[in-house]
Amino acid sequence: MQWLKTTSNRYPDKTAIFYQDQHISYQLLYEQAQKVAYELDQLQHHRVALVAENTLMDCYFIHAAIIANIEIVMINKHLTEHEMRKQMASVDTELLFSNNTYTHISAIHKSEFVRKAINQHSTLTAKPNHPEDILSIMFTSGTTGVQKAVPQRFINHLASAGNCKQIFTYDHDSIWLDVLPLFHISGLSILLRAVIDGCTVVLHEKFDAKQIIDDIKDKEITHISLVPQTLERLLRQGLNQQYALQGILIGGAKLDDRLLIQAQSADLPIYTSFGMTETCSQMITASPKDIQKYPKSVGQINQNIQLFNAVNQVGEIGVRGDNVMHGYLYPESANQEAFIDGYFLTGDIGYIEDDYLYILDRRKDLIISGGENIYPSEIEQVILSHTSVHAACVIGIKDSEWGSVPVCLYEADGNMAATIQNALNNNIAKYKHPKQFIRVNNLKRTSNGKISRHQCKEWFVHEYLKS
Ligand code: ATP
Ligand code: MG
Repeated sequence: MQWLKTTSNRYPDKTAIFYQDQHISYQLLYEQAQKVAYELDQLQHHRVALVAENTLMDCYFIHAAIIANIEIVMINKHLTEHEMRKQMASVDTELLFSNNTYTHISAIHKSEFVRKAINQHSTLTAKPNHPEDILSIMFTSGTTGVQKAVPQRFINHLASAGNCKQIFTYDHDSIWLDVLPLFHISGLSILLRAVIDGCTVVLHEKFDAKQIIDDIKDKEITHISLVPQTLERLLRQGLNQQYALQGILIGGAKLDDRLLIQAQSADLPIYTSFGMTETCSQMITASPKDIQKYPKSVGQINQNIQLFNAVNQVGEIGVRGDNVMHGYLYPESANQEAFIDGYFLTGDIGYIEDDYLYILDRRKDLIISGGENIYPSEIEQVILSHTSVHAACVIGIKDSEWGSVPVCLYEADGNMAATIQNALNNNIAKYKHPKQFIRVNNLKRTSNGKISRHQCKEWFVHEYLKS
């Protein structure tokens, strides 16, 4: 599974990566990566950590590690030294590549290392690897608390690319814009899919809405992956036509109706998806046609998706297949409850109707109030579709009378409590209504822009209530 070697033989002159004003052909990418691989191999570590920053140096590094068959622990660049150390220790990794310096971590300057390597002449021939070898180790987003370490094997990445292509079709002529962090599976998977098929990747270091729209026009981008929050920023910046775009893949969190409608009215080819770090990117995808027919679904199920412990048709979504991990590296205790009958339990609750899957919420976020189930995202969706609230987060707070009650935190330009209440009165049963509405400047988010109910709740209980 040395994809870069194969693709560079097949399309030597084709642009593999377009970064800032540099075009890197597949042949050059392979040559440079082989040089970096040579230097990496000399270090004799079978697993190293990388603070990935979406630069060309990172691409060289990642491909070099694959060539040398060295496992890469992908580290989020926003973490503190203490957090990085903890993550590295949790997966027995001693060496970090980063452009920062640390007091207690043994680190090599990433860009200097790569630059020096590509300026020497020794190369490493791609080492044979096995489908079950680990390519990357990635931590989950930590939306619900502890970040878990997921081993992503060559077979997982390959199967994930195959799954993706069935609905979100692309081929070697496709041009993907990758602006998602490489330390999240959504960002890394684009780089790997491209090299498996020979597509071109336009790599952006950070999210700049204007730059992205300019590139969509000028570089004739055909495919882009976004999270709902970045889609919203592009729409606000004026992305209002399709250009050469064949697909915009939305993942990571629920896409609310208002955004979907806005994007559809601009003729944007929206695909929605459901997936996670453990499934090596999306597990299931809904095409524009699917969305037209079943607007809130995330796609048609197959034999690898099944509901467990269902009550009234609603159950926990279990998944299996070659893209799904076999167990966390850390914490091992998380594996005890994570599998059933060969399926990985996603922690997400949903239902299936006419063979289409709908996501309700995370199991951990379910609010049980007076014996009734309340799904926070149902309330959030109503608030977002019927008011001019920018973002909303509903959390369950302990209550002596009801066990737990919903509370709503929201971002808006002014106090919207009355408007929200009104929207809820018209759309949702009274027992589900939040008991408090609190306007905040910024809801707590993970580094990939997902609202973290866990962190919002921590803030509410430990800061807001005590202030
Ligand atoms: P952690 O597992 O550390 O709490 P996380 O689950 O957010 O963090 P990721 O693997 O990045 O980490 O995200 C996967 C999760 O994102 C899914 O389990 C699901 O809860 C949510 N998600 C992904 N796609 C969708 C979607 N289309 N609709 C609703 N939720 C989604
Ligand atoms: Mg998760």
